[in-house]
Amino acid sequence: MHASSTEYRADRRDLQFMTQEVYDSKKLCEFPAYSEFDPDMFGMIVSEAATFSEQVIAPLNLDADRIGSKAVDGQVVTPEGFKKAWQQMGEAGWLALNLSPEYGGQGLPELVTTAARETQIAASQGFCIANVLTTGAANLILAFGDDEQKSDYCEKMLTGAWGGTMCLTEPHAGSAVGDITTTAVQQPEGHYLIKGNKIYITYGEHDMTDNIVHLLLARTQGSPSGTKGISLFIVPKVRLDGTPNDVTLVHVENKMGLHGSPTCALSFGEKGECHGYLLQAENAGMTQMFQMMNEARLYVALQGLGGAAAALQNAWAYANERPQGPSSRPDAKPGEKALIVEFPDVRRMLMHMKAVTEGLRGLCYAASWYTDWAHQGPEETREYYQSLLDLHIPICKAFATDQGFEVGVMGQQVLGGVGYLKDFPLEQNVRDQKISSIYEGTNGIQALDLVGRKLMAKNGAMVEALAQELGHFDRNGVDPDLFVLVEEWSGYRSLMFESISQLKVLGEQGGKPGFVLYANNLLALMGDVLCAFYLLQQAEVALPKWKELSASFASASEALEASEEAQFYWNKWKTTQFYIYSILPRTLSHARILKNASFSPLEACL
Ligand SMILES: Cc1cc2nc3c(=O)[nH]c(=O)nc-3n(C[C@H](O)[C@H](O)[C@H](O)COP(=O)(O)OP(=O)(O)OC[C@H]3O[C@@H](n4cnc5c(N)ncnc54)[C@H](O)[C@@H]3O)c2cc1C
Repeated sequence: MHASSTEYRADRRDLQFMTQEVYDSKKLCEFPAYSEFDPDMFGMIVSEAATFSEQVIAPLNLDADRIGSKAVDGQVVTPEGFKKAWQQMGEAGWLALNLSPEYGGQGLPELVTTAARETQIAASQGFCIANVLTTGAANLILAFGDDEQKSDYCEKMLTGAWGGTMCLTEPHAGSAVGDITTTAVQQPEGHYLIKGNKIYITYGEHDMTDNIVHLLLARTQGSPSGTKGISLFIVPKVRLDGTPNDVTLVHVENKMGLHGSPTCALSFGEKGECHGYLLQAENAGMTQMFQMMNEARLYVALQGLGGAAAALQNAWAYANERPQGPSSRPDAKPGEKALIVEFPDVRRMLMHMKAVTEGLRGLCYAASWYTDWAHQGPEETREYYQSLLDLHIPICKAFATDQGFEVGVMGQQVLGGVGYLKDFPLEQNVRDQKISSIYEGTNGIQALDLVGRKLMAKNGAMVEALAQELGHFDRNGVDPDLFVLVEEWSGYRSLMFESISQLKVLGEQGGKPGFVLYANNLLALMGDVLCAFYLLQQAEVALPKWKELSASFASASEALEASEEAQFYWNKWKTTQFYIYSILPRTLSHARILKNASFSPLEACL
């Protein structure tokens, strides 16, 4: 194993840049919810989170893949070290960073939570996915449970004593959740008896905690058909009085990657003794579950970002160590070998990986910033930020996971032959990442959500909010060097809004199927324009700092040699240039596909 390429080191400088310099975290401390924090504390928390991810989580990642979680005698055995790391994570407060302190959470802003989570996921996707399900399930109980349910379950879950799951999928009901058939029959004592089979349940069974709290969708007697008739239940593996609750592990799926995360088929109520406890009211399940799905979608977006960040780091390290052929550097000694990082094509790939990773970081952190403002900010701006957040969720989920995967694949290409070998971590990175475009609503479903629900919602209010947000550079004075890039980007921004309008034409020509046929292209186009925008905002911060740091030097190269800080800001500038000139043009093909829409997929005999 190639040591330097397997270690995970968080990009602390960029995390600090995002959470302290691009986003002014002082503003968050003015919100009553975060008034006891200050920006220095945020910086320390992000740095400590990175240390925990590097030292405790990252060492689990290889065994997560090679050993994986396995079913043994009806129980799931996780790889050695999982249980201890999970306990440490819970006890140290790294599980529930953004959740209520009343029940064991840390009450931190989403922005800080997102930075910490990025490092956790980059360190090990297979281990950390347990986190989102547990905290997401607990957060549902916090939002919709009664006081007794909250005190019975939440603290135990948020501190990691108990796990949590999301039980939606059934063998015949995946994307179409409204088709589920699991039943819940109310008993005179108040609880319900649950009966049914769920599949693909992440961490549905494991040995890291004594109890697992399933948040399960089922139908009560006489409920309406479809999504309107679905209710949400708390179904613990072990009841509060210690009685096993008739939840049986059927099997653990044999997957392409993410082997650390046990994907379980579960049977509820084989003996007719599975107790479920209704959350709030019958038939409210789908609306309630959307809360968790929205959180989970943003979390899955971080799987794309974290996967990309880890891939970039591995490829970067390898490219700076791997000698190949004679060097053509002007200052090379006779016979000196080139490191592959010298080759322009390798530099192009690394730059692409870096630009996409930092663009995705901009996109995902923007969504977390909008979350903080929508949930805790001044009343008068909440609706605006909620609109931005709602619009960003499907884009973050689908664009970040598609792009994160591609960054992983490009990392394999940078490595050459060893990129394809199990001896190097890129191969696992790509296998682990693939699922993120499939679960939590496939990326196809995200695109439908974007065009069907978000762009058309509230008479286009979300599009209006986006236009206002993207008007940032129109309203503010811009450095002349940056202005060149902003002007170039503005052309793509117009193209994006034209392409959104094009949806109407597609609807007129092709009806509903025509309207959604190229939703995926529109989502990809919007993803790129947004990532470029957030990179421009980063460049807006970086450029004056670069100018200041380099002012006293005779040349840029002297400044770069003298200071790592100067390198950081310079690189941010170069990265933004690359995204605008060398990545954004791919949106032109999406715009053209939308403009000259061919309805052949609907007409051909497939
Ligand atoms: C590793 C793993 C972990 C998972 N974890 C969980 C979990 O913890 N809890 C849980 O409940 N589920 C979980 N799932 C299930 C996952 O969310 C589903 O697999 C996913 O929702 C897709 O459902 P499906 O597999 O039935 O595919 P289908 O729904 O059959 O989709 C197949 C294809 O059809 C497309 N499609 C389907 N419906 C539409 C539509 N209306 N319009 C356009 N296209 C459509 C899809 O985009 C996809 O391309 C997990 C799955 C895996 C593989």
